[in-house]
Amino acid sequence: MIEPGQSRPAKSDFSGRKIVYDEDGKPCRSCNTLLDFQLATGKIGTSRVQNSTQKISKAEPYAKDDPPDVELLGRSSWNLLHAVAASYPKAPTDLQKTEMKQFMTIFSHVYPCWWCAKDFDKFIRENAPRVDSREELGKWMCDAHNDVNRKLGKPIFDCNLWEKRWVNGWD
Ligand SMILES: Cc1cc2nc3c(=O)[nH]c(=O)nc-3n(C[C@H](O)[C@H](O)[C@H](O)COP(=O)(O)OP(=O)(O)OC[C@H]3O[C@@H](n4cnc5c(N)ncnc54)[C@H](O)[C@@H]3O)c2cc1C
Repeated sequence: MIEPGQSRPAKSDFSGRKIVYDEDGKPCRSCNTLLDFQLATGKIGTSRVQNSTQKISKAEPYAKDDPPDVELLGRSSWNLLHAVAASYPKAPTDLQKTEMKQFMTIFSHVYPCWWCAKDFDKFIRENAPRVDSREELGKWMCDAHNDVNRKLGKPIFDCNLWEKRWVNGWD
């Protein structure tokens, strides 16, 4: 049995990442890439990633998309988090500040990739959300995202460009 918070050392042939397991010992869908998940569950080769448009049938005119893997979940979540910061008031009330702090804490507790969530929770405990203005929250969010980028070996985003990327656009 895998203890909560542990992952088996076996590495995926696809991504080179460790396969992450849930408390019940099953591969964690939200913690692995889709290919790694399929590999770990023995589905690789029988259900390769398909273009979702190929899955549309006449009877069901919607794409049969699968649950998100760690990357789609991450991209979607950063979109939400940065968009939330972009719509945060420039001069928030005390209640809005309190609610934003609570939201970040709760988000870090319910994030479906549990090993991502643990690190995000640690980041929040060591770097309390800066909620005094939209500008501060945006910069804090950018720092939080860069903390994950650093961990994953991704490029560090220039936080001076945060408003262009998430509020005003580039033009
Ligand atoms: C809270 C949280 C924790 C995560 N922890 C992990 C983890 O531990 N392990 C793991 O494998 N994945 C984790 N992820 C997912 C990971 O961060 C990426 O979302 C995923 O790997 C997909 O990356 P991507 O290259 O498509 O771009 P993403 O990192 O998702 O970024 C999307 C877009 O945001 C912009 N951007 C990039 N960096 C910044 C920044 N610093 N500030 C503002 N905008 C920026 C860029 O335009 C980029 O194209 C986490 C996601 C979240 C929301």
